[in-house]
Amino acid sequence: MRLTAGWITCLSLWCGLAPAGEPLWLVNAHLLDGRNGADAPLVDVRLDGARIAQIRPAMPHAAGLDLRGSYLLPGFVDAHSHIEDPAAARRALMAGVTTTRVLGDAYLKALATRDLIRDGYVQGPQMLVSAGHIRPQLGEPFILSFPQFGQYLASPLQGADHVRAVAAAVVARGADVLKVGASERAGLASTDPRRQELSYEEMRAVVEEAAKSGLYVAAHAHGRSGANAAVRAGVRSIEHGTYLDDETLALMRRQGTYFVPTLAIMSPLGDPRGDSADAIALQIRTRAMMRPLREVVARAHALGIPIAAGTDGTYGEGEGGAVRPAHEVEELVAAGLTPSEAISAATWQAARVLGIEARTGSIAVGLEADLVVVERDPRRDTTTLYEPMLVVSDGRVVLNRFY
Ligand SMILES: [Zn+2]
Repeated sequence: MRLTAGWITCLSLWCGLAPAGEPLWLVNAHLLDGRNGADAPLVDVRLDGARIAQIRPAMPHAAGLDLRGSYLLPGFVDAHSHIEDPAAARRALMAGVTTTRVLGDAYLKALATRDLIRDGYVQGPQMLVSAGHIRPQLGEPFILSFPQFGQYLASPLQGADHVRAVAAAVVARGADVLKVGASERAGLASTDPRRQELSYEEMRAVVEEAAKSGLYVAAHAHGRSGANAAVRAGVRSIEHGTYLDDETLALMRRQGTYFVPTLAIMSPLGDPRGDSADAIALQIRTRAMMRPLREVVARAHALGIPIAAGTDGTYGEGEGGAVRPAHEVEELVAAGLTPSEAISAATWQAARVLGIEARTGSIAVGLEADLVVVERDPRRDTTTLYEPMLVVSDGRVVLNRFY
């Protein structure tokens, strides 16, 4: 959430413990700043408006909201979600997600939800939105949002100049980030995630078009060749990355490309468990994809490639709705990250992927007061991350379970 001039009155929905304008002290909590620090000092933190104003060693009997020795973390940054509507946005916020990057956006609902949150009409995480997925088969939802590209209902989007025109339209419509299809999707019976979609030249055109407006590109990439072309084209992050080979990983290391593996959605959790052709294909496929993906994460981690947590989840009531950052943290730990590294992947590293680490994703004086409090030390027990005790978004207490 970002505060704007629209916040003149305190909506009842939003009222925290301190009236607007008065500082709020959160006292007596162990601080984990998201940057993989080894110790967790007991601190008091003063919030002033939307910002973190002061951090001091905990003082006995200090006035403020007593966090009773629990653990204070940065709010989660979900680097890859499919949150589209206000209900899903609110669900994510209650799960501790204070910032997210939405990669996709059928019918541009996420774009509208982003603006409603920004303007204070809806409670939710700050959202960076891709406004569609640029790929050869744009699909009807995309075309209905961009009817000037009606020709691609019947024929695929092909050729660097044509792809560039679509990218320019998406930027003009207000996207914060562009998403390209480097390989086909995993979740459809008719697609093969190993098959490359856009070419190097086409993805390069999107990267160049985005850069004109100071934006960057995220690549949906499972297959080896598509991922390699995407990295060479200069995308900022590889999403999924199941079949990344050593050559591409070395290139990512050299170029500083981020890796958002979205492990949790591939686990049985992400399984829709229905009996449609797509659900069956996905159930079979993810059995085969999980092991290579875990091995890629371990190799990327050993190489020092920055890894960020993305759920690929909708936070909705249907398919993909049950995945939370805590699931991804658990999966990253299973793939070889330490719990502290996995928590960093869900906070600071994810903020770095989004390019907003100077504003949020960590806990330091001057940063946005986007915070989560959990009951137990998450370095010893990551399950405590599933149900935050307290969520603060831009200095406002949006969830408080310290009864
Ligand atoms: Zn996705």
